[in-house]
Parts: sequence; structure tokens; C-alpha cells
Amino acid sequence: MQVPLLDLKAQYATLRDDVLRAVADVLDTQLVCNGPAVRDFEAQAAQYCGAEHAVAVSSGTDALLLSLMALGVGQAAPACRTGAPCPGPDEVIAPAFTFFGTAGSIWRAGARPAFVDIDPDTFNLSPAGVEAAVTERTRALLPVHLYGQMCDMDAIGAVAERYGLPVIEDAAQAIGAEIDGRRAGSLGTCGCFSFYPTKNLGAMGDAGLVTTHDAALADKLEKLRNHGQTRQYIHDFVGGNFRMDSVQAAALGVKLRHLDAWTDARRRNAARYGELLAGVADVTLPVERPGRRHIYHQYVIRAERRDELRAHLSERGVASAVYYPLGLHQQACFAGLGYAAGDFPETERACREVLALPVHPELSDDQLDYVAAAIREFYS
Ligand SMILES: *Cc1c(COP(=O)(O)O)cnc(C)c1O
Repeated sequence: MQVPLLDLKAQYATLRDDVLRAVADVLDTQLVCNGPAVRDFEAQAAQYCGAEHAVAVSSGTDALLLSLMALGVGQAAPACRTGAPCPGPDEVIAPAFTFFGTAGSIWRAGARPAFVDIDPDTFNLSPAGVEAAVTERTRALLPVHLYGQMCDMDAIGAVAERYGLPVIEDAAQAIGAEIDGRRAGSLGTCGCFSFYPTKNLGAMGDAGLVTTHDAALADKLEKLRNHGQTRQYIHDFVGGNFRMDSVQAAALGVKLRHLDAWTDARRRNAARYGELLAGVADVTLPVERPGRRHIYHQYVIRAERRDELRAHLSERGVASAVYYPLGLHQQACFAGLGYAAGDFPETERACREVLALPVHPELSDDQLDYVAAAIREFYS
């Protein structure tokens, strides 16, 4: 049996006619960049996430960069370049254990990522670590809802309030995730989403979104994504080209209608793994905190002899993946920040132990049983 990590072709086969019709409608209008289809999708996405405003952009990475720009983070760096009195680089607090784009965006905004270790149960950044990392240069907090489970936003929000800092939620892996019925992207100053094809809601290419309750921030984001243009060819500040293609918005609008059913299937698959793998002493199953709706973008276990298990699964046709093999504080591109091995022990332990198993909505019960049996066989 073959068990892939994802089956995008199977999902597309169920939607093909609807997606092609929606895309053809856009092409007939030839309003293909940031057109009316984008406005429609923004309205649907804002409602889905429980936010007042949604600004569609070109990718999840650009959603993060644009949010930092809109909040004025990293503005100190150009001043330093001109020789003006240099206040030192802005800092943004983010977890050491996440996808690279989180920290890469901070860097590209002209700020310095200030890394924080993770909570070993949820893999999300530890609120106590966040408070300890605040300095007079801190300009924003950037928690990541890793694997599809939300961070402790009450505790992070309390730190933000204490120090007057904005919170940018990296919700790229967490569309539809909840804490006590409140959705990812509705609890911070703004929320950033990715519609990269492998995400729970995937476009037909790259796309992303920023959500916010703040009308002034939404207005700034809308201008920044279009070169900071306030009226045609009039620029009060510098933005970039961060627009979403209309065909992406049209396809996403079709897919959004199925997202809750897909999430329910992912949650059922996760529950089934929980039953099938209970009692395997060498495996630690994911922890779902009370009151959370974990959307299982990834189903991630900790495994003894992880790399051997991975090879064993691969021999049996079961795909798995390591998100992520190296902490961001150990990436060569951030060597200048002065971190060293051992600085974030939980991040480094997670890098050695985590393994993502197939959890996508198209999995059959037979496939889930087969994966679990292969894991039991390895440890028996
Ligand atoms: C996917 C992802 C991003 C980047 O999104 P893209 O659309 O690929 O640019 C950022 N942060 C996290 C946590 C992600 O998983």
C-alpha cells in the first residue's frame, strides 16, 4: 500500500468542474489582477476568520512582510544607513521552531528576530519566554500557530498589552483553528495566512491573506500591497507588488466552502491515530489543549529513533516528513545574531524527535490502520 503525505490530485478531482467554471468566469472579465473576484474572496475569508477586514496578498510570506511594514517595524534600519543617530535594530519576538518564512520576513523588514523557545507539549512558543525576551527595542510579537493548533493567545495578549506591542499571528498553518470558539487571525493585531497548495486551504499557486479588526491598518495594507499608491501614480510611502491574482481568489472561493468538511476529516483521522497508537511507549502523540480546535495541518508525533522509523515507514510505502530539522537560531543566514547550539533546548529536541504522519482528508481508514500497524511493527 502507498500512503502519500498529501493527495492534491484526489481533492482536485472532486472540485474540478467548479474550479474551472470559476476561473473561466474571471478570465472572461479579464480583470485578472486584484479584481472583483478578489474582493468577493476577501469578504468570505474575513467572515470565516471572524475578522472585520481581510486583505488578499501574493503569499503567506508576503502577508507577514506586509504586516510588519504596515506596523512600521524595521524602520530604524534605513535611518542607520544614512548615518543618522542609530537607535539600533528593531526586534520582533518569534519562535525558534517554525517555518523559515516567519523569521525571513522579520529580517527582510529590516528588523532582528529575537527567538524564543517552545512549549514541549504543543510546539508553540512559550508565553513566559516571550515576556523574558522583551527589550526596549521590541516592536512586535509574532506567535506562530504551529501545525494547526493556536498558541496561548490570552497569555501572549497580556504580555503585548503590558508592553504596548502589536501581535502578528502567523496563522499560515491554522485557518479555522479556534480557542474557545475564537478563530485564528481574529485575536491579534493582524493575522497572516498562506494558501500555498499544501496548506489546508490551498490555491492553484501562491496566495496569502492578512486579517485585522483595525480599519486604518487594513487601509494601509491595501495601499502597501500596491506600491503604497494612495491615488493613481501618487505615492505617500513605499510599498511593493503584493497583489493576489483573481484566478487564485476564484479557486479559493470554491475551496473555502469545503474547508470545514476537510478539517473535520483531518480531526477524525487524528482521533483514529490516537486510538491506534495509544500505548506505544516510544511514541508521544500530539496534545490538543482544552478548548482548542486543532485543525491538524500536520499530525506530528515525537518518536524514539525517529530517522530509523522514518526509513522503516518509507520502505513500506508510507510517506512522512520532518518539520523542521533545524532551529532558526542555528541557520547559517542568522549566524550574525549570535545564537549558539544549546540556546533553545526544546527547539533542538523537537528537531531530533518530530515526525509528521499523513493526515490529509482523503486518507482511508485502511491507510490509517496500515500506517499505525507499520509504526507498531517498528517498535515491537
Ligand atoms: C507556509 C508558511 C509560511 C509562508 O507561506 P507561503 O505562502 O509559502 O509564503 C509562513 N509561516 C508558516 C508557519 C508557514 O507554514
